[in-house]
Amino acid sequence: MAALRRYEILDTPPDGCFDRITALVADLLEVPIAIVSLVDTDRIWFKSSHGLDAQQVTRELGLCASAILQDDPYVIEDAASDPRSLANPLVAGALGFRFYAGVPLRTHDGYNLGVLTAIDRKPRTLTHRERRILNDLARVVMDEMELRLAARRVHELNLALQTAHEELRTRAARDSLTGVANREAILERLEHTCALALREGRSLAVMVADIDDFKGINDSYGHLVGDQVLREVTERFQAVARASDAVGRLGGDEFLVLLYPCDVAHAEATADRIRTAVNDITVVAHDGTHETRDERRKVSVSAGICCTSQSTDARHLLQGADDALYRAKRAGRDRTEVTVCDAPSSTPLHEESRRTRVVGGA
Ligand code: GH3
Ligand code: MG
Repeated sequence: MAALRRYEILDTPPDGCFDRITALVADLLEVPIAIVSLVDTDRIWFKSSHGLDAQQVTRELGLCASAILQDDPYVIEDAASDPRSLANPLVAGALGFRFYAGVPLRTHDGYNLGVLTAIDRKPRTLTHRERRILNDLARVVMDEMELRLAARRVHELNLALQTAHEELRTRAARDSLTGVANREAILERLEHTCALALREGRSLAVMVADIDDFKGINDSYGHLVGDQVLREVTERFQAVARASDAVGRLGGDEFLVLLYPCDVAHAEATADRIRTAVNDITVVAHDGTHETRDERRKVSVSAGICCTSQSTDARHLLQGADDALYRAKRAGRDRTEVTVCDAPSSTPLHEESRRTRVVGGA
């Protein structure tokens, strides 16, 4: 039964392939009825029944249930006088079966699942040639079932492979420490968003943010605390960003926030909210007994924003944001600087095309 189940063939619709095989049996053996039957727990189900208008019979009735118990063809030349079948209602009843020849349908691993049967309403014998034909066609039935099973397995494997591939792709695009997009993924998103902004004619902003004196945090509190600070800072970025924005870790303590659609005023407001949120993070050293003022340390970030209302490319935006970040660091940290980039994409950024101003500041 388990072997039969794996083929998932029971109760499937009629099928041209198996119908052609039973028609061939009827034609070559010159019998009115030919059946591809499969023996289920309590019934014998017909995958194809040539010359017989029935889908299944109970297992007690079926001669097929006996036929699958042996390896050789099961032949009853005259059922009415054969002790194995004379009381069978299919023989004694209105159907009046007299001749029965069944060849087991055997799986590649040796299970008999059903029978390919030739039936006549008059007694007859089975010649060597007919026996060979029935044997060969039973093999063809089983080959077809094996092929379909293999095709289904391949399909299932393909689906599993596809899922694994997608999972891998998702994982490969994530920064393992913080869970946000990694450098490659956020830069790819930036490229994509630039193209989108060009098509939609809307402005976008790139914010590059870097934790201030992060090395000092690592040195004072250890790498594990440093990691925790990276995660906390990431959470603040995500909390402030909108669903249409994207947050990624460029590497080390440097992040990129992609704001789209976004004008200069919104970018500045977002940067302020991010810096305020990050300022809430305090690293506290525990010595197990008491806390001193020196053991508490506030976290801050510096941010550089590059905004454009005209089409530009990712490289220019990133360069503009990097320049702004550099200025923010030089100006004392915990502040934001903005580069407004009005250069069209074909024109390299020139100093004249940028307007710079300091926003916020500690
Ligand atoms: P600045 O204000 O100029 O940005 O100073 P900074 O100390 O933050 O800058 P710097 O680039 O010198 O230091 C970044 C540090 O981040 C150095 C590196 O050891 C640390 N770092 C990089 N990746 C990780 C990480 O995954 N976990 C931890 N804990 N530290 C990291
Ligand atoms: Mg830093």
